[in-house]
Amino acid sequence: MMTECTDQVVGDILSSWRYDISGISPDMRTDYEGHLQSCDRCRRRQRLHRTIDVVLIGISTFSILAFIFALAVIHHIEPLRNWALVMHLEHRYVALTLKGAAALGLLVSLASWILVAVTTPAPVYITGVALAQARVLQERIPEEFRGRAPRNVA
Ligand SMILES: [Zn+2]
Repeated sequence: MMTECTDQVVGDILSSWRYDISGISPDMRTDYEGHLQSCDRCRRRQRLHRTIDVVLIGISTFSILAFIFALAVIHHIEPLRNWALVMHLEHRYVALTLKGAAALGLLVSLASWILVAVTTPAPVYITGVALAQARVLQERIPEEFRGRAPRNVA
């Protein structure tokens, strides 16, 4: 069962922003931060939306890599056509078609990656999580090694 929002007005504003307040100036943020702290429903929604953002950017990153890999494989097998003389034209045609499809797929994946990065707070969110992880890792480094660890990890 879903709990009710404690302040429907603030909740509606937050939901229209997909619960992303990273773009608002810090002094205007306090009310919304307070609501996210006190309201279970909005906090859960915020987590859901950030998970969606991360999944979307993960999928597009994965498909970019997959298409790059496909292009590399096609590029690698293409010279085979030279000794398959009978299949020459046909093979070349197939290789070109595959290459075109892979290149198109790569372009689409790149475009969707940029779209996700621009329209969602995913980059900010991921950077924040990465920094928090780095801090945790740094705290785990034994005392004697800490002097050698990079200091610029804030
Ligand atoms: Zn709420």
